[in-house]
Amino acid sequence: MPSRRVIFAVVVFLSGTQAFAATTVENIRVWAEGGRTRVVLDLSRPAGHKIFTLRSPDRLVIDLDAGRLSKSITELPKATGAIAAIRTGIRANGQLRIVIDLRETVRSRSFTAGPNSKYGDRLVVDLQRFENLTTVKRASEKYVRGRDIVIAVDAGHGGHDPGAVGRGKTREKDVALSISRLLAQRINAEPGMKAVLVRNSDRYVDHRARMEVARRNKADLFVSIHADAVDDRRANGATVYVLSLKGASDEAAKRLAKRENADSRVGDVSLADKGEVLASVLLDLSQNAALGASLDVGADVIGELARIGKVHRRSVQQAGLIVLKSPDVPSILIETAYISNPTEEKKLRSASYQNKLATAILKGIRKYFHENPPANTQIALNQAKYKNSARISHVIARGDTLSEIAERYNVSMASIRTANHLASDSVRIGQKLQIPVSSGT
Ligand SMILES: [Zn+2]
Repeated sequence: MPSRRVIFAVVVFLSGTQAFAATTVENIRVWAEGGRTRVVLDLSRPAGHKIFTLRSPDRLVIDLDAGRLSKSITELPKATGAIAAIRTGIRANGQLRIVIDLRETVRSRSFTAGPNSKYGDRLVVDLQRFENLTTVKRASEKYVRGRDIVIAVDAGHGGHDPGAVGRGKTREKDVALSISRLLAQRINAEPGMKAVLVRNSDRYVDHRARMEVARRNKADLFVSIHADAVDDRRANGATVYVLSLKGASDEAAKRLAKRENADSRVGDVSLADKGEVLASVLLDLSQNAALGASLDVGADVIGELARIGKVHRRSVQQAGLIVLKSPDVPSILIETAYISNPTEEKKLRSASYQNKLATAILKGIRKYFHENPPANTQIALNQAKYKNSARISHVIARGDTLSEIAERYNVSMASIRTANHLASDSVRIGQKLQIPVSSGT
């Protein structure tokens, strides 16, 4: 982390020609009360800035764009409250860096204030001691527990129905079950989410029964896991279809049957068999308000699948089927890859690719539900809670990780993910995150 080292003890002033756009820090005022220490920078004009904390030793860093310290400041504030010392320096990029050495780990909150009768533009930083925060956090955990979002994970085929079979004899029913189990594990590890496996062994489950499992468990989403097969062994990539749970459509049946009939055999793959299964899943079409949800969650899943490998189609497929209205349970069917493609067949067999697929599918589902949490779910309640609470923004600095940031602010990673609709735990330098903190701090 270079910022730890690039701190100048000497204040260097900008030359007069550069100074016209500069923001002058006219004064630095500091006071402490209870567990809180407030730092106010009186500015000549509003300025772009970044504020972040560092550990070992604890420091808070304020980088002020094109900033400089007024010559009238001859002495920086002495140790006060959480502050051990204040140092300043000019960085190579012209930023004024103010480093506040801290006596202890604090949570920081900052805001800007416009001129009033007494002061001009100000940048205010509040430093809050951790021990107080712990109490607040404990108190805030007594929230009404909402229900889990339920995902029915359906491993396609099974038992006497092997699904598609690759040239290397890989059976679709087996890879579908492996990926489904991995996906269910990930969903169950997710706060506020729960998986129901439609089948957890090599047995055939009738299609109506599959849907029935989803309905009985009041699933918020039905995800059917498959692997595709076609004559052309070069065909590759994942495809996501939307499907629905009831009320078959004849026109859809005809169109799908036509498409499936065009495919004959791939090696040992009986496409007629596969077509029938796919058809029966896709044909359980109904017409109500959840198709939009199916399309949206499908798009989020495709987006994540595209990050780990090829996708056959970038958009959710419902082409070839009649215009659907919506299913009563949002439902998607994922053709994870082409088992008829020798390269993809090999990948589908590998634990590492199965894991990648499961993770990508989870991320897509998580993204969707964090953006669209059903009412009364824990995720919805958490969001409402954070919406009403104060937020600190944190700009990602080099070396920051989500887990460190969560630790630094004494909040959960899940709450940061929720507040920022993050689909993954990766962050990039310069990214601005909202850190939800309990109100009352
Ligand atoms: Zn299948």
